[in-house]
Amino acid sequence: MNKGKLFVVATPIGNLKDITLRALETLQTVDYILCEDTRVTKKLLNHYQISKQTIIYYQHSPESKIKEIANLLIEDKNLAIVTDAGTPGISDPGNLLIQNLTKNTEIKEIIPIPGPCAAIAALSISGFPTDKFYFAGFPPHKNKRQKFFKELAARKETIIFYESTHRIIKTLSELQMFAQQREIMVARELTKQFETIYRGTVEQILEKIKKGPSKGEFVMVIKSI
Ligand code: SAM
Repeated sequence: MNKGKLFVVATPIGNLKDITLRALETLQTVDYILCEDTRVTKKLLNHYQISKQTIIYYQHSPESKIKEIANLLIEDKNLAIVTDAGTPGISDPGNLLIQNLTKNTEIKEIIPIPGPCAAIAALSISGFPTDKFYFAGFPPHKNKRQKFFKELAARKETIIFYESTHRIIKTLSELQMFAQQREIMVARELTKQFETIYRGTVEQILEKIKKGPSKGEFVMVIKSI
C-alpha cells in the first residue's frame, strides 16, 4: 500500500456484520486508526480480531490534534478514521479534519471506504421520493428549534434528520405543529435487535411511540410534497 493516505471508513450502525471486506482490509493494514471512543471501536476491532493502535479524534478535538494527524500523514503513515457508527463526517467527527487536510498541499490522498449510513439506510426503505432529498442533521436543542422545524416544513423535497432517544417525543410533538399533514417514517434501532419502522402521520406515530418503547436511536424521514 502506498503511504500517507487517510481512509474514511464507514462502520456498522448496529449489526457488526454490516462492514465491507474493503473496510476490514483497510483497518487491518493502516498504521493507526483515528476513533471517537476507543471502547466502541475496540469492540468492532476485537470482533474481527484486528489489533491496531488507535488515536482519539472527536468533534471538538483541538487544532493541535489536526496538526498531529496531518504530520503523521506527511510522515507517510497510513491512517483510517472511523466513528462510533456509520459514515465519518455525517453528523459525526471527521468533517472538520478533512476540511483542514484538503487545504494542506502536503497531504496526498483522502480515500472513502463507503458503507453504512443511518440516514441513507432509512431513506432506502421509506418508499418516499428519493430523486431529491434534504438532510438536516440533528434538530438544535434550545431556542433555534422552532425556526428549524418551520424551515423544514417549508421544504418540498423528502427530508431526513436524526434524533436521539431523549428528544424523540418532544420532536414528534413539535413536528405536529409544523408538518401535521405530512406522511413520515421513523426508523428506530436500524439493523439492531429491536429495529422498528413506523409509518403514518406524525400524530399516528407519536401515539405509537408514546405507548411503545421510545428508547434507541431514530432517523426521521418526511415525505416530499
Ligand atoms: N455518522 C452516522 C451515520 O452515518 O449514520 C450518524 C452519527 S450521529 C452522531 C448518530 C445518530 O444517527 C443517532 O442519534 C440516530 O439519529 C442515527 N443513528 C445511528 N445509528 C442508528 C440506528 N442503528 N438506527 C437509527 N438511527 C441511527
